Amino acid sequence: MVMNPIAENRYLKGKWVCMNCNATMRGSKQPIKCRKCGLTQIRQKKKQRKK
Ligand SMILES: [Zn+2]
Repeated sequence: MVMNPIAENRYLKGKWVCMNCNATMRGSKQPIKCRKCGLTQIRQKKKQRKK
């Protein structure tokens, strides 16, 4: 499925991934800490590469 860049950016913008346990969180702002493990190392979800 091909998303247009604007929609894709909006989609990725609200997604955050814990660098420890890979739990995903949603929100416009970066979460303070992971809801699962409590770690503060959270990165924004990256665009997935097409195979
Ligand atoms: Zn975590």
